[in-house]
Amino acid sequence: MVRVAVIGGDGIGPEVVRAGMRVMEAAADDPLELRFTEFEWGCEYYLEHGRMMPEDGIERLRGFDEIYLGAVGWPTVPDHVSLWGLLLPIRRRFDQYVNLRPARLLRGVESPLANPGNLDVTVVRENTEGEYSDSGGRIYKETPHEIAVQESIFTRRGVERIVRYGFEEAKGRRGLLVGATKSNGISITMPFFDEIFNEVAREYPEVEASLMHADALAARLVLDPARFDVIVGSNLFGDLLSEITAAVSGAIGIAPSANLNPEGAFPSLFEPIHGSAPDIAGQGVANPAGAIWAAALMLEHAGHPKTGGRILEALEETLASGIRTRDLGGEANTEEMTDAVVERLGG
Ligand code: ATP
Repeated sequence: MVRVAVIGGDGIGPEVVRAGMRVMEAAADDPLELRFTEFEWGCEYYLEHGRMMPEDGIERLRGFDEIYLGAVGWPTVPDHVSLWGLLLPIRRRFDQYVNLRPARLLRGVESPLANPGNLDVTVVRENTEGEYSDSGGRIYKETPHEIAVQESIFTRRGVERIVRYGFEEAKGRRGLLVGATKSNGISITMPFFDEIFNEVAREYPEVEASLMHADALAARLVLDPARFDVIVGSNLFGDLLSEITAAVSGAIGIAPSANLNPEGAFPSLFEPIHGSAPDIAGQGVANPAGAIWAAALMLEHAGHPKTGGRILEALEETLASGIRTRDLGGEANTEEMTDAVVERLGG
């Protein structure tokens, strides 16, 4: 039994999550049993209660195996409220230190690049420290001498565990790992990152590992993404580079993201990378592919890789057959595309 906490969230979030649940149910055969528990948290909850989720929200999620999230954020609620009120506390309290973002050019989807090649790359992003540490401050406010300082916090434990995850991921794939650095400009934290990367590399002689400066890496990802297999980077670099890999592999509505606590001490969280898309919310036209791919990743993580694989295959076949939503140049709505995936799974 896989117990899944479902948070549809805002805008198109509940629409695409509903699609993902239908697909998972169609794919789940013996012995996989799924139990979904839905939580109506997010910006609407905030506007009513003054918080994004109840005070004991984290505690209520703790007992689940996985968390399946749609999207959070709405124009009438400041971004820092929606982010700090729901997603970040979940990531931090459940020590989801790996943000895994696979990108692949699925059949039937067009890349904005002329020559994307056989694009299949996964970005492993550090998810709990680094440049997004909430440490620093502003002084001499509103004077010409105003100063803002924000510290980047890199711990040996934090760097080592994310780098190690990158090596493990590469080992299970094509055996190529690139570490995103910037030690030619950032003189303290990045040489530290490089040092640990090289130390861990010695334990993985079977992985072809190298370090590349993040700016050059960003350019290479646009010019020749097919040469990459796995990229591991800090919180900021992983964030930026995975936006590039998602963009070059098609539309924003397709890519998934997993926030993992690899040891399994706490639930992990799976979501599409897109936001709540207020401009199309409620119209039933959102592309459910990102949420469906995220569902496939979730089942794989829950110990059902075959079921996850079948879901991704059914999604890809659907796209290749021409059943696509508007953002991909098709005419199907969310329900029609979901129906087609469910049908391919024999549902
Ligand atoms: P956020 O800050 O939450 O990421 P955003 O507005 O920057 O929000 P999105 O909500 O992802 O980003 O929307 C960006 C654009 O992509 C919008 O025009 C939206 O309609 C479109 N979009 C996002 N997700 C989908 C989807 N699943 N299907 C179709 N279009 C989508």
